[in-house]
Amino acid sequence: MTQTQCQYEYKECPHPPLADDKDNFCLFHSQNDNKDKNDFWDGIQKKLQNKDFNFEGYYFPPGLKADFSGIEFTDANFVRATFKDAANFYNAKFSGKGGTYFTLARFSGKGKTIFVSAQFSGKGRTDFRGAQFSSGGGTDFSNVTFSREGGTYFSVADFTKCNTTLFEDTRFGTECKFLYTAFPWKGDHLIIFRGTRKPIDLSRCSFLYSNPERLIFHNFKFIENEPEKFLGLSIWRRSFILPDEKTVDKGETVTITKEEIKTGKETPIKQQEEIKVDYSHVESLYRQFKKNLEEERNWEDAGEFHYGEMECKRKGLTRFWRNFGLIALYRYFSGYGERPLRALCGLVFFIFLFAGFYWWLDAPPRQDFWDYYLWNLSIKAAFLQRIGETGNDPAGIVGKFIYLLESVLCPTLIAMFILALRRRLKR
Ligand SMILES: [Zn+2]
Repeated sequence: MTQTQCQYEYKECPHPPLADDKDNFCLFHSQNDNKDKNDFWDGIQKKLQNKDFNFEGYYFPPGLKADFSGIEFTDANFVRATFKDAANFYNAKFSGKGGTYFTLARFSGKGKTIFVSAQFSGKGRTDFRGAQFSSGGGTDFSNVTFSREGGTYFSVADFTKCNTTLFEDTRFGTECKFLYTAFPWKGDHLIIFRGTRKPIDLSRCSFLYSNPERLIFHNFKFIENEPEKFLGLSIWRRSFILPDEKTVDKGETVTITKEEIKTGKETPIKQQEEIKVDYSHVESLYRQFKKNLEEERNWEDAGEFHYGEMECKRKGLTRFWRNFGLIALYRYFSGYGERPLRALCGLVFFIFLFAGFYWWLDAPPRQDFWDYYLWNLSIKAAFLQRIGETGNDPAGIVGKFIYLLESVLCPTLIAMFILALRRRLKR
């Protein structure tokens, strides 16, 4: 029996099937690499003229360079579209109320995938979920503006077989999710986020549950100048933090839709999964980003990621240990080895505090504070100067214990100060 309608499985298609197509698909859906490219592209042009932007499941054959540069799309639908050669969306504009969908699209073949200077605006979302980027010539999202109200989704997208994916000066105007995104694992396959003149703003990007080994950041920023609380006061600031850390701070959940690709005629199953994000997940992100930046010899930003990693480790503890444990002390007195000034302030504070203790424990008439309690007892103890010295002891057994405590605590702070300073100077 001959079919009179295209048998494309995911969507009803009004076009007649090609005469000798093995799947009984139409000119647009046929996966025959030898189908007539001119007819195919003429058909696409006709659709563009009619403002029909539904290209769901279309198969762009090898040898055909899909040139959509400068086209203004409204609610474009490229779901499951397959590009077997170059795909060029240079300067294209995607708008409308419904969203732009490249869900499960495949960008493959020897050519390039170009979205340079494209603009995504309007309502709805920009959706690249589950898309596969494996073009031999690389993928380029440079200078793209992602500002659809519903955000941008690269979740579960697959970049593993893509040579290089470039996000240069890309503007993420609304949130952008790279949840469970499969980034490349090895070799010279890279995903590069960088700014040229201005730093690229990644403060709305989430990278949870992706594998960020091959992510490279140059001239970038995340959420900047985030105040940090110390004794309830925000006297400290962090240069930048990952938006994912804030997600956990607020106790928010992350919803992810996993779409399973079925080979048969069945409809794809949508699985919604709600995940409560844990600090340990963000901690591992910080750790990997730190490693990547150390390889780039970007010590300063690597240091900030180290700080973030330790913060997440601390925040993951129970309330008591979070505030009074060793790691909390490490934070207060040297900013996890990243803040020499804190160690110095702590040292000065304790030298005065201990001098005060000695003065207070001593019986009147008391000796001169500066000369005796501060200099002769406290400062000398802090710098381990009084070992073997006799006489001039702090008063009583309590005084001697406090004195012992100081000669442990203060030299530790001095060591922390030197280590933190060294980390700074190494840069
Ligand atoms: Zn069709």
